[in-house]
Amino acid sequence: MKNMKKAILLMMITTGQLIFAQSISQILKNEGAFRKDTVLSVKSDSKETHLPVIIMKGKIKDPVFTIVAGIHGYEYPPIIAVQEVIKEIDPQKLKGTLIIVPIANVEGFQKRTPFINPLDNKNLNNAFPGSEAGTPTDQIAHLIAREIISNSTVFLDIHGGDANEDLLPFICYYNRKDTPENTKKAYDLSLRSQIRHIVSYPYNLSPSDPAKYAFKQATQQGITALSIEAGKLGTVQRENVEIIKRAVYNMLEYTGNYKEKKIKIQKRKNTIILDQQDYIKVPESGIFYSHLKSGDRVRKKQLLGYITDEFGNKKQNIFSDSEGTILYKVGTPPVNKGETLFCIGYSEKK
Ligand SMILES: [Zn+2]
Repeated sequence: MKNMKKAILLMMITTGQLIFAQSISQILKNEGAFRKDTVLSVKSDSKETHLPVIIMKGKIKDPVFTIVAGIHGYEYPPIIAVQEVIKEIDPQKLKGTLIIVPIANVEGFQKRTPFINPLDNKNLNNAFPGSEAGTPTDQIAHLIAREIISNSTVFLDIHGGDANEDLLPFICYYNRKDTPENTKKAYDLSLRSQIRHIVSYPYNLSPSDPAKYAFKQATQQGITALSIEAGKLGTVQRENVEIIKRAVYNMLEYTGNYKEKKIKIQKRKNTIILDQQDYIKVPESGIFYSHLKSGDRVRKKQLLGYITDEFGNKKQNIFSDSEGTILYKVGTPPVNKGETLFCIGYSEKK
């Protein structure tokens, strides 16, 4: 018992040092090129978790390119792509710094939980700006906003379709009009990523509105921010891991952070820009049927699928309100009222 107390005390001291002696800002002040792996500790009531962070710094600190994966722990291609990138990059060859959060929601990842953190059942990508004294998810959001985003020049948050989502790979950013330089840079980086579909979202947050999403938080904090969506349905697809890695290396070359010689940039001529989105919500819970897949083109008023009850009775047909491309859809049978069933992207300029 006594020994255990000692062990706990020692652990607290170790963790304490990680928080107080080694904040991200302080690590970034260290001279020379290095890689530092650290964890930011999260404690709330009896619940404990951590946020793993990798800092790879070249000889000079700036620019700081941040990559976050695993805000949703069941989205595997982003997590695996980042695992490969951290093994491939040599800090000695870096210009500026990479801050990498390899898995932001480690509890969701280890416990195989879609969308949420099982410690508090909250969705981290709905929790920004978070709070210092809140539940674990609130604290993780707060740490990312305070320690990671505020130290970034470019902030990239990588997602994919979750366990039940069929998704077309795309890269996206907020069209924030009062920070035109950031928005232009996000657009240029999107083009450079060589991901075919580029999605821009409207931005109308006031400075005090909760941003909810990580890259919206970064946009609100005045940082150039983007998100990649690649991967689907709770598995690791090699082609989506490659799409993410190629995009990351292309962007790192563009910002001057890193040149990956093995990956050749091929100019993409057929980029598709989708600046409008239609969200079709699930009208009532049940069993969902659809022959359509992410990436399929749909017409206005097209029948997209239908929902039945447990007895097999058809309850609802689902129709499209717009003509466009399915960016993502529910790809498994159960659907719940109010969830997004389809997201259809299209362009204002027809
Ligand atoms: Zn996600």
